Amino acid sequence: MSAVIIDGFKIASDVRHLVAEKTAALVKSGVYPCLAVVLVGENPASVSYVTGKEKALAEVGMKDRSIRLPESTTETELLKIIEELNEDSSVHGILVQLPLPKHIDENKVIMAIKPEKDVDGFHPINVGNLVIGRKSFLPCTPHGIIVLLKIMGIKTDGAHAVVVGRSNIVGKPVSLLLARRETNATVTICHTGTKDLASITRQADILVAAVGKPKVITADMVKAGAAVIDVGVNRIPDDTKKSGFSLVGDVDFENVKEIASYITPVPKGVGPMTIAMLMQNVLEAATQWQS
Ligand code: NAP
Repeated sequence: MSAVIIDGFKIASDVRHLVAEKTAALVKSGVYPCLAVVLVGENPASVSYVTGKEKALAEVGMKDRSIRLPESTTETELLKIIEELNEDSSVHGILVQLPLPKHIDENKVIMAIKPEKDVDGFHPINVGNLVIGRKSFLPCTPHGIIVLLKIMGIKTDGAHAVVVGRSNIVGKPVSLLLARRETNATVTICHTGTKDLASITRQADILVAAVGKPKVITADMVKAGAAVIDVGVNRIPDDTKKSGFSLVGDVDFENVKEIASYITPVPKGVGPMTIAMLMQNVLEAATQWQS
């Protein structure tokens, strides 16, 4: 039997709807949630992500302070802008779109954002709080994955979750969230040093692919009945599209869906959840301001 296709688009739209309601109430109380999105350069994928975030801000009724900077922006200039945004009390969240041009040290930039405005959840203080289970801004994509699992009623308690990828923005944090007591999965993290990847992924009740390589997870790597979460967003050439490319995930969707119990599509799976959870974090950041 074919897997249930998880409608991340619909679930994200429900989350955004709730955020919009709470935003309206906050605005009434005199706090107008505002996110500053900083984009350096014109990387097409980054431009498209930033545009999506701006659209979502408008939709949930939040203020959008977009700052688009040329590729030639220096690290010092960028750090100065962040400092100004840190001090600006009308800005509740700051997001610097990654990756940054090579001449700018990403770590320095992440460290420069005030932890209480770090709605991406990438600052070491927020990461540390996540590790020790204290309240913090959760990184949006990993948090979105946990919400998808929850809303779909996919049992995590006692499940074996295998995460392929150990990046700071997806693989590591989603592994930590899956292993939290309230989620209670047993987690295995795989990476390029993993021997016989397929033998491990085949043990997964929940398989999270955050690899960044098109269709690297094939049907023979998936256990029958597994829930498969595809984080990958890969552009592959496609002459039939006006843009000249198609988006595909890290999972061979067509074949894996015949084996899995649940699967997220690409696009309209994990991607929209990332933006919805970002809106939720901005709301949280602005709510802190109220008290
Ligand atoms: P990343 O920083 O490049 O990390 C990729 C991870 O995959 C690394 O840990 C790497 O291992 C591992 N890996 C690569 N090839 C492998 C292989 N053949 N076998 C096993 N492990 C392998 O990527 P990322 O930032 O986590 O992003 C992953 C994907 O998710 C990308 O396609 C990205 O565009 C997408 N993404 C989507 C969203 C969304 O909202 N949907 C958000 C963020 C990212 P090593 O550590 O050993 O190198």
